[in-house]
Amino acid sequence: MESVTIVGAGVVGHASAAALRAHGYAGRITVLGGERHRPYDRPPLGRGFLTGQTTIDELALEAPDEDLGADWRLGVAAVALDAAAHRVTLADGRTVDSDAVVIATGSAARRLATMPRGAHTLRTVEDALALREELLPGARLVVVGAGVVGLEVASTARDLGLQVTVLCSSTDALRTTFGATVAGAVFGLHARRGITVRTDLRVTDLIGPGWVSGVRLSTGEEIGADVVLLDIGAVPLVGWLGGSALDLRGRDLSGGVVADAAGATGLPGIVAVGDCAAWLHPVTGKHHRIAHFSDTRNRPSIAMAALLGVDPAAASAPATLTSQQAGALVQFTGRLHGTESMTIEAGGVDTGDLLAVYRSGDQPVAVLGIDQPVRVAEWQARLAERGGSHTGTAAHAGTAVQADAVVPAGTVTDASAPG
Ligand SMILES: Cc1cc2nc3c(=O)[nH]c(=O)nc-3n(C[C@H](O)[C@H](O)[C@H](O)COP(=O)(O)OP(=O)(O)OC[C@H]3O[C@@H](n4cnc5c(N)ncnc54)[C@H](O)[C@@H]3O)c2cc1C
Repeated sequence: MESVTIVGAGVVGHASAAALRAHGYAGRITVLGGERHRPYDRPPLGRGFLTGQTTIDELALEAPDEDLGADWRLGVAAVALDAAAHRVTLADGRTVDSDAVVIATGSAARRLATMPRGAHTLRTVEDALALREELLPGARLVVVGAGVVGLEVASTARDLGLQVTVLCSSTDALRTTFGATVAGAVFGLHARRGITVRTDLRVTDLIGPGWVSGVRLSTGEEIGADVVLLDIGAVPLVGWLGGSALDLRGRDLSGGVVADAAGATGLPGIVAVGDCAAWLHPVTGKHHRIAHFSDTRNRPSIAMAALLGVDPAAASAPATLTSQQAGALVQFTGRLHGTESMTIEAGGVDTGDLLAVYRSGDQPVAVLGIDQPVRVAEWQARLAERGGSHTGTAAHAGTAVQADAVVPAGTVTDASAPG
């Protein structure tokens, strides 16, 4: 193999280029990026970058002295893939041919059909700059959705002096993944910071036209807003692959590029990694799209090893991700498939800190800590000994939350919940 084209210059595109070199590949690497920026870290977009404390230079993922010897072509998107020829066509009509193609085009924040001015999503540097301008002290921010991004922005905006309301449904990822007790504890962090959190409701539309004046619920209730942030999920950016022979989950373009447990798509020399990919999970036997960092740390190395035909065992190091919310550190480590039981083993929902341990049968498989970094570190070591867990951290309401590779495939049994 003498040439590899990586489509997508995000964290996974960058990690894939680095992994190719780490596995000893010395050939040509071309990285195609739709954004004009070199690879940057997205989590700070809802935190320090939103307040202006973190500069764009500080978001850079490349080390100052790093040189992967890649040809970076930024600011122009790929629009088509000829999978048989390994030919990528760019929006400006140029083509790039190579021996292999890595699909790493990530995802985009889901939007509503009507988005008046003042209604935002947060995915890119430009999104953050636009939102930043409107986070003025005293303004009313309504956050729709209780994902990591929404809760982090809620927390940041509260610190900036805004009146913040978070609206979430009964199917928010926080609750369906970690259970109602843990979700309640995280919501409690925000509530204690003066953020209004309302659960079990459904937003139908944003009230316009012109500048947004509020959101409308399915009950007909209207909640006033000067600024709205939508955190209602992400869609894989695979539309440019519509004409290829790749399996895009029934071609509804909603589930990402179907790949095996090493990122192989079934078409020779084409792998898919990161937010845009739905990898086969060896435990569930299903294809899951995991849109968080646990995917990004580990899988590029596995996929590049598979692409190059080198031993993937060397590539399975644990992954880490971090989030800070409402002054709290939330950390998660392990794997969840939705069938585990959960017990609170330190702290509690009312104390602001807790350690939740998830078990499959009597075997611990995951742990979530809120402001419990020492115990989480101990558990990370124990779980790693048990077999290559992935870790991640999210910060909620000033607390840091750490999370591991999570597969939200069902509902956690909350063994410590009353009743
Ligand atoms: C505000 C925010 C906070 C987050 N916080 C956390 C966190 O605390 N923990 C966590 O685990 N995860 C977090 N995430 C998620 C995490 O950032 C993503 O999982 C990660 O960025 C996925 O990496 P990726 O490279 O697959 O995709 P991306 O980072 O989306 O990169 C894909 C790149 O491909 C480019 N691209 C798309 N289409 C094309 C095309 N056709 N041609 C060329 N280029 C294209 C895109 O412009 C983009 O630059 C957060 C995300 C956001 C936005």
